Amino acid sequence: MLVKEDPSTIQSYLEDSSNTPGGHADKIIIPENIDEASAAFKKAYADKTPVTVSGAGTGQAGGRIPFGGIVISTEKLTKIKKIEKIGEKGYAIVEAGVLIKDLKASCERKRLFYTYDPTEQTAFAGGTIATNASGARSFRYGSTRKYVLELTLILADGEVFHLKRGDVKAKAGTIKFKTGKKDYEIRLPTYKMPPTKNSAGYYAKDDMDLIDLFIGQEGTLGTIAEAKLGLIKMPKEFLTMFVFFKNEEKALKFTRDARKARPAAIEYFDKNTLALLSEKYPNVPKDREAAIFFEDEISTTEDKAVEKWEKIFSRGGISLDDTQVAMSEKTRREFMEKRQFIPERMSEMAKHSGFPKVSTDLAVPENKNEEMLRHYRETLKLAPFLYFIFGHIGDSHMHVNMLPGSKKEYDVARRMQLDFVKKSVSLGGTVSAEHGIGKAKKDFLKLLYGEKGIREMIRVKCALDAKLILGRGNIFDFF
Ligand SMILES: Cc1cc2nc3c(=O)[nH]c(=O)nc-3n(C[C@H](O)[C@H](O)[C@H](O)COP(=O)(O)OP(=O)(O)OC[C@H]3O[C@@H](n4cnc5c(N)ncnc54)[C@H](O)[C@@H]3O)c2cc1C
Repeated sequence: MLVKEDPSTIQSYLEDSSNTPGGHADKIIIPENIDEASAAFKKAYADKTPVTVSGAGTGQAGGRIPFGGIVISTEKLTKIKKIEKIGEKGYAIVEAGVLIKDLKASCERKRLFYTYDPTEQTAFAGGTIATNASGARSFRYGSTRKYVLELTLILADGEVFHLKRGDVKAKAGTIKFKTGKKDYEIRLPTYKMPPTKNSAGYYAKDDMDLIDLFIGQEGTLGTIAEAKLGLIKMPKEFLTMFVFFKNEEKALKFTRDARKARPAAIEYFDKNTLALLSEKYPNVPKDREAAIFFEDEISTTEDKAVEKWEKIFSRGGISLDDTQVAMSEKTRREFMEKRQFIPERMSEMAKHSGFPKVSTDLAVPENKNEEMLRHYRETLKLAPFLYFIFGHIGDSHMHVNMLPGSKKEYDVARRMQLDFVKKSVSLGGTVSAEHGIGKAKKDFLKLLYGEKGIREMIRVKCALDAKLILGRGNIFDFF
């Protein structure tokens, strides 16, 4: 077990992608196996020392940033223990610190597919389960939760607890289970979760599976040490396309049509995002109002897949001149690079301006998607700063990214962000679809579930972590 106490090492654990300021910790503990991790938690629990669990630090909500106590990092839990093919499907057993890109590459060598496909591939498996991460392809495949079959957890007191989906189910809103050491009885929150992609607060349903409570809990209820993850048959190939539109209405109509064809991903880019892309990629037209990027599994031949989409284009009055198709691996990679370039470039611009990027992670029910987009447009007409709207339109989950250039503009951006959150809640949507609440969005969670919902979550937290040492300051405050 490594213990690091020098300020420069500690400093590197005080940040993620959220720009949350003020993090501090006494030391960083880096266990090299699950037994060492369990021992570290046992000691912290006995001493009532607050523990923040760290994954790769790619989080967007400040969840891994400690505000006191110690950090326990999962970075040395890097074993891919097994990848097993059963028929055309299979599973992988991985430790928490395995990089998503390594997991995906190892699965692909066995012609198996781990569906999670974020723009950022250096996240750890444990971090993605703790935030119920999703990404572009969740339109077809769903979010991380759907693929978590088993978890090896380290509970707050250091006990190692293995949990299989199907082992423990709630009855009438209460969940009872035994670990080797203790009996637990937990009354679940009574709120109704939004019918969208959702990573906001604890999962709660009257008859839920206990494993779902530990997915998306952002290190506040237990630590994911190891996971068994479901894999599907490797798609033969993906057809990847950009479609450019002269007006937004046409892009929205195409989205409605494309949804029916169930591709893997349907992504939206607004005019400003296209302008940003065209700085680096000259083949991105500068005179278009919007673009849709989509990926579709090719199950037969590429020609047939293209034919299917040509029919959809023709019904929507879309000219093939307004499309770009990836026909080779090289072009496909270039398309993916374009997708990755956007958040990277925006982060660079924010660093340059000296003011944090203000962004949203909201998803609304499908029939409210267009109303939400209209609301963004109307509100942002008044924005004195650059902004970009892009993302997972298939899931009615587009990110608004605002880049203020002064304190005054930053305050305006924060007010607009709050307004968007309220609008999403009023339309039956969520306040965080994939990034989690962390430390950055606690006020938004109150808008979604109210004080009562927060109290109910705290009750769950107290049942699993009586000394309140885990992930302090994440999801809610209780001091
Ligand atoms: C450029 C960019 C693109 C991104 N794209 C996407 C995207 O498409 N979809 C998406 O969902 N997210 C995306 N993200 C956000 C981020 O990658 C995810 O939130 C990811 O799940 C975080 O994983 P991590 O290992 O970096 O976790 P961290 O940031 O280290 O931690 C996140 C939270 O999980 C907790 N945690 C970490 N590991 C464990 C564990 N083993 N047990 C219990 N709790 C733990 C931490 O305490 C913290 O609260 C993106 C981020 C960036 C920078």
